[in-house]
Amino acid sequence: MNSRYTRKLCLLASLACLSMGRTLAQDEEINCGTPDDPVALAKTSDLPKITKTWSGTLKAMVIRISFSDAPYTVDTATIGKTNASINNLYRSMSRNTFEWDWHLYGPILNAPGTKADYGANFSSLQSWISQQMTSAGLKRGTDYDVYVASFPQISVGWAGLSNLREADWINGSYSAGVTGHELGHSLGLPHAHSIEAGPDMFGTPGTTSQTNEYGNPYDIMGRGGSTGHFNVLYKWRIGWEDADEIKEVKTSGTYRIYAQDNGVHKARTIGLRVSSGDVNYGYWFEYRTISTSARNGATVMFQGFRTNTNLDSWYLDTTPGSKTSGDESDGVLAVGKSFQDKYGQTTFKTLAINTGVWSEEGYVDLQVTIPGTVPTGLQVARSVNLFRNGDAPSYNLMGRAMAGLSPARTLAVKVENGSTRLVLSR
Ligand SMILES: [Zn+2]
Repeated sequence: MNSRYTRKLCLLASLACLSMGRTLAQDEEINCGTPDDPVALAKTSDLPKITKTWSGTLKAMVIRISFSDAPYTVDTATIGKTNASINNLYRSMSRNTFEWDWHLYGPILNAPGTKADYGANFSSLQSWISQQMTSAGLKRGTDYDVYVASFPQISVGWAGLSNLREADWINGSYSAGVTGHELGHSLGLPHAHSIEAGPDMFGTPGTTSQTNEYGNPYDIMGRGGSTGHFNVLYKWRIGWEDADEIKEVKTSGTYRIYAQDNGVHKARTIGLRVSSGDVNYGYWFEYRTISTSARNGATVMFQGFRTNTNLDSWYLDTTPGSKTSGDESDGVLAVGKSFQDKYGQTTFKTLAINTGVWSEEGYVDLQVTIPGTVPTGLQVARSVNLFRNGDAPSYNLMGRAMAGLSPARTLAVKVENGSTRLVLSR
């Protein structure tokens, strides 16, 4: 186990963040969770608590900045278009319960330094922006909830940065993919990672070298871009899914999971969580239809890879291979594929999908087999048959498993000619 090593890495990253006076989610560094992480969660055998439900609107204010050697060049039409695109995604993800209330701060702020100055010392730009906002009388909670500082591209190795709360910084072009991602951090969400441990689909929890920080190919908190819905674990964490839509599975059965990457709310299952045999870990399942490669089967995500109290989402590549960007796009559990829990006997198999298009009606049927449990699809009927005086009494017991699992069987207890017979139907 490398948990001590991971903790050390996190500590180093935290110290780096502290040295800048903030906790940063920098898009090149290890992410150490968010301030809102419910660290008191002792184990992961059940659905985690909802961290915070975001609803209504939050004011997002765009602050434009120029440098002494670089004018601000993004036009307001582009800013408006990007912000509208971001809101399309957030409205859809929250199913019209949340959106950003956009404001564009009037004047372009002229920072005194050069691109090279701020590339070498980014914190000096951060401080300067804060000072300007204070002297302009802009107040958090009144004028803005989150500010998005946009400036000409500097050489810092990242496209966007968030302090996981009220401040995001956008370096260079103002795109919906990057800005929408940073705003996800401002809601308290970490990156959507993947595990890539060569031929081993699971890797060893705590081993940072076996991960891709942005490895989820479908999630805007990973590499999913401007239309990539948050995964079902992250939507759950911020209160954008109802309790009847996310199931904690504890018995065998075939479960239908409807596509989650749309704005439609029909009170049906859009995500499953199944505990591992080791309750420190869990598996999350969802179905996506925006991306063509996602439509082939269930998306599988692991919980607990960093530490057993950490609620980051780790996409599992069920066709494991080399750790290359893009390798995860063949990762969904396609029809006919199965895998077994690394720490137990539970198996998972995709039986069917119903769609090849982007639709909220898309679904995947996932068979979960937990040894020793009764399939939830099993119907049991009992009957004592009517009999007249002198006739032989009989008793029927019928079990019908879910369609596709096995045909119905009827077990009957009959008394014939003074003997008791058990009759199992064909
Ligand atoms: Zn990020």
